[in-house]
Amino acid sequence: MTEISEKSQAAHKKRMATRKAVVDERIARATEERGVLILLKGNGKGKSSSAFGTMARSVGHGQKAGVVQFIKGRLQTGEFKLFRDHPQIDWHVMGHGFTWETQDQAKDIEAAQQAWAVAEKLLQDDSYNILVFDEMSYMFKYGYLEVEPVVAALKARPKHQNVIITGRTMATPLQDIADTISVIQDERHAFRLGVKAQQGIEY
Ligand code: ATP
Ligand code: MG
Repeated sequence: MTEISEKSQAAHKKRMATRKAVVDERIARATEERGVLILLKGNGKGKSSSAFGTMARSVGHGQKAGVVQFIKGRLQTGEFKLFRDHPQIDWHVMGHGFTWETQDQAKDIEAAQQAWAVAEKLLQDDSYNILVFDEMSYMFKYGYLEVEPVVAALKARPKHQNVIITGRTMATPLQDIADTISVIQDERHAFRLGVKAQQGIEY
């Protein structure tokens, strides 16, 4: 076992005490109780899975969740299969199903607006503790949705309601009102090493 000198132990103890005082002070200052708007953006892998992980955390505590998936991929994801029948989760997949393969813009716009109509209702319903708007940010990027009504609805939502929005790029007006913004950076991805997308990891 490594010998730790008395001097080093004392210095460590002092550092930890200072650290604890800083943390305790921050905890004492964070007294507000309200829902938060979380944005998960960036090119790295982990945005949607983080959003659904947080949702699972919330549901585990007995809370009620709503999901709107603005882009319906080709495959049914594991999280959809796991959660769709859960009594505390209402899961909505955008109607016609925008994928990178569809090229019908009129249909995509209609589907985006239908999805937003659902999302807007959830934002007015205070029985939902947490909402996930997965891949919503693309709707603004492509001009399928206006960001202003979304910002207004987010601001007017029930006080305790948490909302998570994912997507590689975020509209600035959303960033302006967000409480937490995490950027998932792409440092490396197995796909570029030639590894095939796999069930349970990618979808
Ligand atoms: P996940 O759903 O795994 O959390 P994500 O939501 O961060 O990923 P998206 O931009 O929504 O990522 O992309 C969805 C799909 O693309 C997932 O199957 C994911 O594994 C994969 N993916 C994410 N980032 C990358 C990347 N940098 N390179 C290649 N594939 C990626
Ligand atoms: Mg995603």
